[in-house]
This record gives sequence, structure tokens and C-alpha cells, in this order.
Amino acid sequence: MDGKLDEPRAADRTAVSLTAMEIAQLRASFSSITHGPQGQAHLAQLFFAALFSEYPQYRSLFPISLEEPARKFSKALEYVIDNLGEPDAMLELLAQLGRDHRKYGITAEHYDAATSSLIAAVRSALSHVLWTPTLDSAWRGLVSILLTTMRDAAETDDVPAAWTATVVSHEQRLDDLAIVRLESDEPIPYHAGQYLSVQIPQRPRQWRYLSAAIPPNAYGQIEFHVRRVSGGWVSPAIVNETRVGDRWLLASPLGGLEVDRDSGRDVLMIGSGSGIAPLRAQVMEMAQRGTNPRVHMFVGGRYPRDLYDIEALWELSLSNPWLTIVPVSEEDENPWWHTAADPEPPPGMHRRLHGQIGRVVAEFGSWADRQVQISGSPSMIKTTIYALRHGGTPPELIQHDPLI
Ligand SMILES: Cc1cc2nc3c(=O)[nH]c(=O)nc-3n(C[C@H](O)[C@H](O)[C@H](O)COP(=O)(O)OP(=O)(O)OC[C@H]3O[C@@H](n4cnc5c(N)ncnc54)[C@H](O)[C@@H]3O)c2cc1C
Repeated sequence: MDGKLDEPRAADRTAVSLTAMEIAQLRASFSSITHGPQGQAHLAQLFFAALFSEYPQYRSLFPISLEEPARKFSKALEYVIDNLGEPDAMLELLAQLGRDHRKYGITAEHYDAATSSLIAAVRSALSHVLWTPTLDSAWRGLVSILLTTMRDAAETDDVPAAWTATVVSHEQRLDDLAIVRLESDEPIPYHAGQYLSVQIPQRPRQWRYLSAAIPPNAYGQIEFHVRRVSGGWVSPAIVNETRVGDRWLLASPLGGLEVDRDSGRDVLMIGSGSGIAPLRAQVMEMAQRGTNPRVHMFVGGRYPRDLYDIEALWELSLSNPWLTIVPVSEEDENPWWHTAADPEPPPGMHRRLHGQIGRVVAEFGSWADRQVQISGSPSMIKTTIYALRHGGTPPELIQHDPLI
């Protein structure tokens, strides 16, 4: 193929400098990698292999297990490729990732190394297809956008790469869920609705995202609600091994869940399990203001016992008439080994509804007049978006954290 024929005209280029042809080629070739026999993480594995064979000194920047970085790498790349036609969201995610990567001690020099390793990894993953000039220019263009956006955001950020904080309380609310409150040495500039990267002393170099469950306060306190993932590296240690006095590292606040006060729209919030954390932080922050839009908050879980924070939310609702809380559980009964009684709703509060949370919310009809926030596991977010769209809620009104 003649490379010149594929030379893009300025008018054909999108805001991220890729032509429609290049975007199509990127999508098709990426799909052939992720749907290939070696699976979604194949490209990430090849990337780390290329990086560490060329620059063995960089291996120590990463945790022992590369499973989590590889998963995040694959998810972030998938998100970018899916959103090539809508560059704003994509560039914002990349900028956030760039700021976040400062916690690993990554500098401009590492980005140069990553560029050649990523191109090498893509060529190796696509060894079964003809590497044409168009494909080469598309991937080089994409890699340049990825790494330049991340590096520029990292270089221009003027807040520290990480903060230290001390655990001041650890409450095991359920056998598999703990509420951990910390006090940071310096104020952390996060806003209600954001999540942060967290590293605990029991699992060095294993960073995990956790959403702040309270808005920032004058004492530098921050709270996380953590569910133990069976077989996970970090969450079991947070739930079972965290002690008062432990020193944690917290990195760049990320994410943009936010109530748009200028839109004139009321708010629909849908949270499941510990996914209620960023929604809870926002309604707590709203409770400190005089006037607010109306908020309907659906709080879900598999069992009734999973609505572990429902009493605090009822209390908030009782003193804030703009806030309506609707509890929902998939199962009507608790598992046999959970013997504690479920709390009774105070007079005037909604009784618990029964069913899959997305479907329950959609059964109320279209929420097309609301701004919508969804928070929970990636599968809960996807099924809830599907149910809402099916019920007539436009996707552009729906916010959620990246599924990474
Ligand atoms: C934006 C964002 C905000 C988050 N906020 C919170 C929060 O406030 N509270 C909280 O508890 N968690 C939160 N998480 C999830 C958290 O970051 C970790 O992924 C989770 O705690 C598991 O970490 P781990 O080290 O125990 O498991 P890993 O060692 O990372 O994973 C072990 C295995 O479990 C799988 N796995 C990972 N997460 C889940 C899951 N949620 N459900 C089922 N299987 C899983 C992995 O694919 C892997 O196979 C958030 C994630 C994101 C992306």
C-alpha cells in the first residue's frame, strides 16, 4: 500500500490527530489482539516483557505481581480505543493516569522507554497481520497521544505525587467489609465524589483505587469503605490486617463524579455495596449547603445485610428533605450465617425493594429529566446503564467512574 495515499488531510483529522481510517484500523487491530487466543491481557504482557528486557532497572518500579498493572493497562487502552471519536473524556482519563503514575516515580525518561516498548509489543501482538504503513502510522499516532498526554499532565501537575496518612479507626462493619478512617499529614485536595490510589504497609507497591466516603474536612480526615475480594492481594489485608496507627500512602485524587448545580436537573444516584462511598460523600457535602437539587439515591446490595450504611443514610435523609433513600437487595433473605437483625426504616422512609438494582430503578420509568451517577462493580455499572438506556434515559446524562 502506498503510504502517501493514506496521508491524512488536515480536515479529516480529529482533535486527537487520527484520521477516520486510522481509527478504524486501530479498532480492528486492537480487537484482533483482545479477541485472540491469548486474551485481553496479551498486549499488556508483551509490553511489560519488552520494557523489562530493554530496561531491566524499571522492574523494581512495579509490584511483584503484574496482574493488576496489566489489567489496568488493558482496561485503559480499551477505554481509549472505544473513545477515540470522543476525545475529551479520553484525554481527561489519560491526563489523570499521567498524574497518578507519578506515585511510581515515573519521569519523562520512562515515557520515552514506554513508547518504543509499546510499539514493539503491538507489532509482536499483530505478527499475524500485515504491518502496513497505515497501521504503523495509526499505532505510532495513538502511542504518541497516549504517552504525551500522560507525560504533559504529570509534568504540569503542581500537587504532591502522594500524601502520608495515619489510620485513626478501623471498624469491621461486616465480616467482609471494613470502614477505615485516616488523618493525612497535609490536607489532600480531593473533592467529594473522587477516588484515590492507596498503598498500605502490608502490601508495598500494590496500589489500589478507593473512593473517599466522606467529603474533605478541616482535620484532614478521609474515610474508605473496603470490601474484601476473595483471593485479592490488597482488600483482604485492609479488611483483616489494618491496625490503628498504620501509615498509608494516598496518591492523586482522580475521577469526576459531580453534581452539576447549573444544569437545573435533579439527581439520580445508584450505588451498590461499597460503591455507595463516592455518592455518600457527595450527599454529605450537599447537606452542608442551604439549597440543593432533589436527590433520589438507590442503595443496593446482594443481601439485605449488604446495605451496611443504610441507617446513616436514613438519618441524613431525615434532616435533609431533598434526599430520598431507596434500599434495594437482590435476595430478600440474608445468608444463614448472618444472624444480626436488619434495621427497620424510620417512619416515612422507603421500605426495601427487591430485585437487581438497575432493573428496579428502570421500573420507575424514564429518568430522562435527571443527572445520573452510578457507582459499583464494573458489571453492576454496565447492567445498570443498559437498564436505564433501555428505559429511555439518554446515555449522555449518565456519569460513572472509569471501568478500570
Ligand atoms: C474507580 C475505582 C474506585 C474503587 N473504589 C473502591 C472502594 O471504595 N471500595 C472498595 O472496596 N473497592 C474499590 N475499588 C476496587 C479496588 O480498587 C480493588 O480492585 C479491589 O479492592 C480488589 O483489590 P484486591 O487487591 O483485593 O484484588 P486483586 O488482587 O486486584 O484482584 C484479585 C482478583 O479479583 C478480581 N477482582 C478485582 N476486583 C474485584 C471486584 N470488585 N469484584 C470481584 N472481583 C474482583 C480481579 O480481577 C482478580 O482476578 C475501586 C475500583 C475503582 C476502579
